[in-house]
Amino acid sequence: MGRTGEERGLLITHANLVTLDESGRIIPDGALLIQESLIVEVGSTQRLSGRHPEERVVDAQGQLVMPGLINAHTHLYSTLARGMALKDEPPANFVQILERLWWRLDKALVAEDILYSALVALIDCIRHGTTTIVDHHASPGSISGSLDLIAQAIDQAGLRGCLCYEVSDRGGCQEAQAGIQENSRFIRRCQYEKKAMRAASFGLHASFTLSDETLRECVELAKDLDVGFHLHVAEDAADVSDARAKYGKSAVQRLADCGVLGPETLAIHCVHVDGDDMDILRETDTNVIHNPQSNCNNGVGVAPVVEMLNRGIRVGLGSDGFTANMFDEIRTANILHKLSHGDPRVGYAELLRMAFQNNRDIAGLFFRDSLGVIRPGAAADLIFLDYHPPTPLRPDNFLGHLLFGISGARVQTTIVAGNELMRNGQLVNLDEEQIAARARELASKLWERF
Ligand SMILES: [Zn+2]
Repeated sequence: MGRTGEERGLLITHANLVTLDESGRIIPDGALLIQESLIVEVGSTQRLSGRHPEERVVDAQGQLVMPGLINAHTHLYSTLARGMALKDEPPANFVQILERLWWRLDKALVAEDILYSALVALIDCIRHGTTTIVDHHASPGSISGSLDLIAQAIDQAGLRGCLCYEVSDRGGCQEAQAGIQENSRFIRRCQYEKKAMRAASFGLHASFTLSDETLRECVELAKDLDVGFHLHVAEDAADVSDARAKYGKSAVQRLADCGVLGPETLAIHCVHVDGDDMDILRETDTNVIHNPQSNCNNGVGVAPVVEMLNRGIRVGLGSDGFTANMFDEIRTANILHKLSHGDPRVGYAELLRMAFQNNRDIAGLFFRDSLGVIRPGAAADLIFLDYHPPTPLRPDNFLGHLLFGISGARVQTTIVAGNELMRNGQLVNLDEEQIAARARELASKLWERF
């Protein structure tokens, strides 16, 4: 954006501004001023236009402007599986889904697949208003440098990303060591570079594919590196029964005993957790990430999200690679918990906490700028939606508009760190057709190797 003049900022005018700040302010005919990568002023169009006549202006023409969404758990590497046929009988349970689909796919990935798989998924993010992602990567056939490829895709796309490599003993000792090495190398790179757009955590697969020995090594290293973990926890009952059979305790208890849990760790799913497990998650201040569409799709069960939130556990929202569209996850979470509780009152206020407040706090573990809010000093990560409310829109009924209107509206413009990545439905920096064409070529080769 600085290309039009070093000193000039960007003034967005005539926006129906949903700030998601502490008071949930909505400013009709609002404006905001961006300088470099941050929002510096928020107010009415009349006031800001008068004060800043010299700035470059983007007229939002009454569109709804809100903070970009955060996806607290995804797998960019899964993109090229779209439409792929499996070679065996359809998987009948979660472990078979891993064995017959994901563990075969990730083994077959080569460097260029990793890059294009990420680029395609990131285009989807830009198109659906997701501006920050927390990714969990696996490519056992191409481990070393894999996170650099994803970082390259994220740079090219202009989004924010926190990356990690999934350490697992499923492929033997050498593979586990290579995964550990990739995490520590990339974490050190991020700590050295200190880029606002990029972060790292320490990736682990899940309790049932990790030995005590490997876990101990990772815990030591993560302590030295001063980072938390990003791993799947009790996604399926198989993870819990494995821990009980091998260690005589639940997966959550085992991970806590090994030192994996804590305030910087993301425990993904936590579908099969009991009261004691929830106490541990709360006591260790561990973050839980709920992925409702993935859980439904894998038939693994319904995470006790409402109970976890009521107990004071910070539960955020992710997609697990199922979609790039966080509005879809919000909509699914809304109906899933009503259905599972048999109570239409359940899972309403919880949505705003997970998708906005908690995801913002979780992103805050990794990124130095304030994300997910429109206020002076916060990151200029914004989306414009072609949504013109047909009924009164107020802070107290925003969720109703979000579920039944905004979530179905088209994202027209996506801005991250003050840079326009999509303007009026057109991607600014990426050649979508070229990327899709190359991804199709790579996918057909990948499907043969699968
Ligand atoms: Zn996952």
